[in-house]
Amino acid sequence: MNEPLRKCRICGLEAWTEKELEYFSKFKESKYGRDTLCKKCKNQLCKKSEDKIKLKALQKLSRDGFPRCLVCGFSDDIRFLQIDHIKNDGNKDLTSGGKRYKGKDIYRKILNMPIEEARSKYQVLCAFHNWAKRFGKTGAEYKVIVLESPEGDD
Ligand SMILES: [Zn+2]
Ligand SMILES: [Zn+2]
Repeated sequence: MNEPLRKCRICGLEAWTEKELEYFSKFKESKYGRDTLCKKCKNQLCKKSEDKIKLKALQKLSRDGFPRCLVCGFSDDIRFLQIDHIKNDGNKDLTSGGKRYKGKDIYRKILNMPIEEARSKYQVLCAFHNWAKRFGKTGAEYKVIVLESPEGDD
């Protein structure tokens, strides 16, 4: 074997054995059921506990489990990453109580959804590109950009 089982996308920490996989938290959509980020980097990304559910939702929407803006690739701080309704139908995306989803509710919804459905409805954009899309730029322009997965990592 000349490739590690998992390699942290931020610090480069590698896991070559089952035991070393312990440095990576469980993530069922990812290879070997482990995250693409090591626990330490993940904790740094999620400074508050409510960030954890957001990070999970962002990871679910990102093809290789690495949360970043679909347009520019920004990934440094999840506070600046936002969930975007691909078809701009956020107003129709209502809770059973008739309210618009926001914050934690939408992250929960995404986490409870089948992955294909979630990815067909939502995408991850940085705050800048999310606003850029709302002001003038059409959603279609960004919709065609497909996240690359350099390591073929699913
Ligand atoms: Zn790391
Ligand atoms: Zn961006």
